[in-house]
Amino acid sequence: MTATFIHGTKISDDIKREVAAEVEHLKRRGIHPGLAVVLVGDDAASSSYVNMKAKTCEQLGIHSRKLTIPSAITTEHLLAEIRKLNEDDSIDGILVQLPLPKHVNKHGILESVDPKKDVDGFHSANLGSLVLGHETLVACTPLGVMELLYRLNVPIEGANAVVLGRSDDVGKPQALLLMHANATVTICHSKTRNLQETVRRADIIVAAIGRTAMVTREWVKEGAVVIDVGTNKVSDRRDVQRLFGNDETRLKDFERRGYIWVGDVDERSVKEVASMITPVPGGVGPMTIATLMKNTIKAARMRRGL
Ligand code: NAP
Repeated sequence: MTATFIHGTKISDDIKREVAAEVEHLKRRGIHPGLAVVLVGDDAASSSYVNMKAKTCEQLGIHSRKLTIPSAITTEHLLAEIRKLNEDDSIDGILVQLPLPKHVNKHGILESVDPKKDVDGFHSANLGSLVLGHETLVACTPLGVMELLYRLNVPIEGANAVVLGRSDDVGKPQALLLMHANATVTICHSKTRNLQETVRRADIIVAAIGRTAMVTREWVKEGAVVIDVGTNKVSDRRDVQRLFGNDETRLKDFERRGYIWVGDVDERSVKEVASMITPVPGGVGPMTIATLMKNTIKAARMRRGL
């Protein structure tokens, strides 16, 4: 079997078109949705993610505000900035770009975001609502994965789903969303015994562990749907060749930038057994941004009781 590649970029474009139409509709009712993105420090990757988010807002007619804050900021001062955004009526969504500097109390900052504006779905109130299956703002990446599965008509009800990783921002919400969609869910982590055997029972695999190409074909049941959330930077040419052979596109990418992004799944071997697989890049990543836009609109509507 050779897997079909799931092109997240195309599906995310569909979602963005839907969001743009919704923004138009809201504007006709006098509502101008707004997203604030808070960037602390000058990490190049974080800065590029934030710029991408701001650019997508602009494309879809969402008003965006970028707050660039020096990394030396104290937790108290950052809390004061979030408070201002919480009180600002032109802002519907607040996103604090992670990671934050070590001296900043990450938990305190994420908990200070008004849950109604928490478009990242990281606030404990929103996570609690997700546990209970109530309508709420849910973390963008796992929500993006569900959108992919729904839009590709992947049967979820009754399926065995394995989520690799139990982080608060990906693994846990992913497992809850799959469970609410009536999958039978197993959550694996670094202490799981017989990991490979457990994963091999899955009809749907969502890998979110941050381990380069760890999931190989021996882990995957024939016909499984494989969603690769991982984004791992590979900066050694020998690793690129080991993982992709003489794949010209990857090698050219590597020559141009000095690194490439690789998922948690060994694409070359897994595509031989899976029925569908998301590429990295171009799979889950674009879905995360599209669902952030969707969450911003949802926050704008929910805040107004619409
Ligand atoms: P994280 O907070 O570091 O969590 C990693 C999880 O994987 C943990 O639960 C850990 O287990 C588990 N794990 C690590 N090594 C393992 C191993 N060898 N075997 C089994 N489980 C293992 O990471 P995250 O924030 O969830 O992100 C995961 C990956 O997704 C990263 O590569 C990240 O860059 C990527 N990501 C991509 C997007 C996107 O939009 N594409 C968004 C978010 C994250 P323990 O709990 O036992 O430590």
